[in-house]
Amino acid sequence: MTPRRGAAALLLVALTAWAVAAPPCTIDQRVTALDPDAHPERIVLDPAWRLPPGYAPSDLVPVSRAGFAGELPLRAIAIDDLRTLRTAAEADGVRLAVQSAYRSEAYQDAVHQGWVRQLGPERAAEVSARPGHSEHQLGTAVDLRSADGPPAWELDDWALTPEGAWVAEHAARHGFVISYPRDGRDASCYGYEPWHLRWVGREVAATATASGLAYRAWLYLHHPPVEATAP
Ligand SMILES: [Zn+2]
Repeated sequence: MTPRRGAAALLLVALTAWAVAAPPCTIDQRVTALDPDAHPERIVLDPAWRLPPGYAPSDLVPVSRAGFAGELPLRAIAIDDLRTLRTAAEADGVRLAVQSAYRSEAYQDAVHQGWVRQLGPERAAEVSARPGHSEHQLGTAVDLRSADGPPAWELDDWALTPEGAWVAEHAARHGFVISYPRDGRDASCYGYEPWHLRWVGREVAATATASGLAYRAWLYLHHPPVEATAP
């Protein structure tokens, strides 16, 4: 194969991988067959794929266990990494707070209905997950903000604050991915949310972040979702 043909073939492979990696954001109600308690980091949650109806994690603990103010619940499995993220940030003079953590299916329903009333169903689907489809229901996602600031979504771009910039640079090292990156709507299905972190463990966070793919696209490539069979 000539070098030029080789390059063309490589490009084709890359484009094909991308196409496989980021299927369109179709709306559906497909229930994942994976056990969220065992493999929270492998679960695709997007407009098509959802958690088993009524799923709630069994190991929720308050974020105060990670040294944050407040009693918002998060899965115990993510607490050690959340604590080291906080202490590393504080060592760099950066003070963070948790704005939101675990959200139940019923609570997510109320949040989503609020957006539907405000924006209509189509726009609401871009800014807020439907109940059952939210990473917050997994119990491993947190919304952060600057300790002395308003909710991060009230700012034009939280990543431009010292706190948001620190998180963008260091989250992966502590086991978190930023699920909804800038300019990533086609791949992640949601608008840019520099404050929304999903715990996936340090190894996965490092690999997925280094790939440059939105986490949803990385999951489709490495752990494509499998549908639960009806009981
Ligand atoms: Zn969030």
